Amino acid sequence: MVPGARLVVLGKQGAGKGTQCVRLSHHYVVPHVSTGDMLRAAVKQGTPLGRKAKDLMDRGELLGDDLIMEMVGERLSDGDVRARGFVLDGFPRTVRQAELLAEVLAPIDIDLAVDIDVPTNQVLRRLAARRVCVDCGANYSLSQPPLINWTCDVCGGEVVQRPDDTEEAISRRLELYERQTAPLIEWYEDRSQLATVNGSGAPDTVTRRILRAVEDRRDQRGGRRIR
Ligand code: AMP
Repeated sequence: MVPGARLVVLGKQGAGKGTQCVRLSHHYVVPHVSTGDMLRAAVKQGTPLGRKAKDLMDRGELLGDDLIMEMVGERLSDGDVRARGFVLDGFPRTVRQAELLAEVLAPIDIDLAVDIDVPTNQVLRRLAARRVCVDCGANYSLSQPPLINWTCDVCGGEVVQRPDDTEEAISRRLELYERQTAPLIEWYEDRSQLATVNGSGAPDTVTRRILRAVEDRRDQRGGRRIR
């Protein structure tokens, strides 16, 4: 049986986190826990959390640490996560969230935090071209559109530009990334839990780099190598 994994995936908006997290979740057979996807679902369903989140999300602002932790904490207590682990996408995003996560997970911490490193000019180009399915969140781009008329290949939903992929919201999100999320990278490095992976190049190449980093870490710890 494939052993599970407990992974945090970091990276600027547009670094390819979503795509890589889906692949990692299939590879290790663990749930993909994306706070952005959970919040977008709450907005779509019009729940109290969604109503609180919508405006902040559209402006590219972060939601409060405690609110996010409550949402993630609930998900992390589900049986599938407890049995196999997780790939965390878009969380933690602040040092405080990382501290809260470590508390919730104690005594078994994460295996590794993977930072997908892509230069800012490259993520700006990717974000401007990014298009997503409003129903299932599948990612497309202007250069790789769905097969038929901006209709999702996976579920038939409408494929559009995200409301927070406007120029203003993008620059705010990148500013917040530098201020709030970049210090996280140092935080994980100080704990010897970080692997930085070059995120430029084809998605398959980046996936191979990430899997190698995770497996190297397991080898160092005497864990089993996964194929
Ligand atoms: P994402 O899809 O990860 O880019 O998230 C979209 C938006 O959801 C962000 O711009 C924030 O407004 C909100 N959000 C997602 N994850 C978090 C988090 N961990 N902490 C605070 N806000 C978050």
